[in-house]
Amino acid sequence: MKKNKALEKIQQRCQALYEDLNLATVRAWKAEAPGRKAIGFMPVYIPREILHAAGILPVGLMGADIEIIRGDAYFQSYICHIPRSTIEMAVNGSLDALDGVIFPSICDVIRNLSGMWKMMFPDKYSKYLDLPQNFTPGLAGEYYIAELRTLAADMERLSGHRITDDALRESIRLYNRNRELVLELYDLRAEKPWQVRTVELYLLLRAGNLLPVEEHNAMLEAYREAIEGEERQALDNSRIVLTGAFCEQPPLGLIHTIERSGCYIVDDDFVLGSRFLTAPIPEEGDPVANIAQTFLDHAMETPFVYIAEKEKGEALVRQCRRRRGEGVIFSAASFCDPALLDQPMVSAAVEREGIPYTEFKYAENTGQFQVIKEQTGTFSDSIKLWGNE
Ligand code: SF4
Repeated sequence: MKKNKALEKIQQRCQALYEDLNLATVRAWKAEAPGRKAIGFMPVYIPREILHAAGILPVGLMGADIEIIRGDAYFQSYICHIPRSTIEMAVNGSLDALDGVIFPSICDVIRNLSGMWKMMFPDKYSKYLDLPQNFTPGLAGEYYIAELRTLAADMERLSGHRITDDALRESIRLYNRNRELVLELYDLRAEKPWQVRTVELYLLLRAGNLLPVEEHNAMLEAYREAIEGEERQALDNSRIVLTGAFCEQPPLGLIHTIERSGCYIVDDDFVLGSRFLTAPIPEEGDPVANIAQTFLDHAMETPFVYIAEKEKGEALVRQCRRRRGEGVIFSAASFCDPALLDQPMVSAAVEREGIPYTEFKYAENTGQFQVIKEQTGTFSDSIKLWGNE
């Protein structure tokens, strides 16, 4: 088969960015112009538009599969792994390129991590971003707009750049385009999962954690073009929706393993912040109010977002129908409270609809995949044999 040079180049770049744990890419970006700032953010979602409009590089932090030497000393045994690797990287200097970190309010672990960061790095910026959990029009909007204006003022102070409405509208336009490109690839994968491999799509999303949005948009467009020139063989795999992996990410080998075991992942919640808003932010009018309102009206339904009147699991059932998913894999980080507290309710909803499911837990440093391969492979086979009965 003819080599697809363009695709190979993108794959290599994505892999290098995935392995860039010391943030050399961020250092290089900062070195290009004096005074540049970079702010890290923990999963899942922050309004990156506000940072971008101040000329600041938002850097997505997702832990890592690294040896933990000091990170364990900061946490009790029975919690997930991502805060340990984050602390490890903070104390070993891997995150030195960052001028601060934003911790969105998704669980107690992230809240505690924000306190630790504050104590360990008193000279760096630290913000616990309290995303609204009350979606009542007016009340939540007012609160969140005020929170976003505080963040914007912080970013202005840090960068020395005023955030004009026009600059913020331009940032919104760029991130709207970014979400649109990501969603187009998700749609294409659901249509032709043999063409857009999940490992490739995942690495593309991870690249967006480090690259400026302009560069990431160009990369997503180039991938789309390169993949269209590629001939890949369709396999008789089962179509799976994977859920639960919205914060701590599984190791890359585990995603490979699921794909190779006979599952086409046709939807997932990896790197969820990249598409957490399900509609574009309006590009006209008050940009801060628009960011807030889009969050209130179009935040994705996930375990860390409060759902008042609807039934837990409805969104996943809809997602399965829309993506023609034949089964669900619940794949959550060990000890992930938001994911695991929801799972009984969500799996009951899936079961009521007659959608088969299986579940396992992982940690970002899980090293053995054989058992999971057997489990997901058997799950895929069982769908092929009995899925439609
Ligand atoms: S993996 Fe789950 S429990 Fe751990 S920090 Fe993320 S959301 Fe919180």
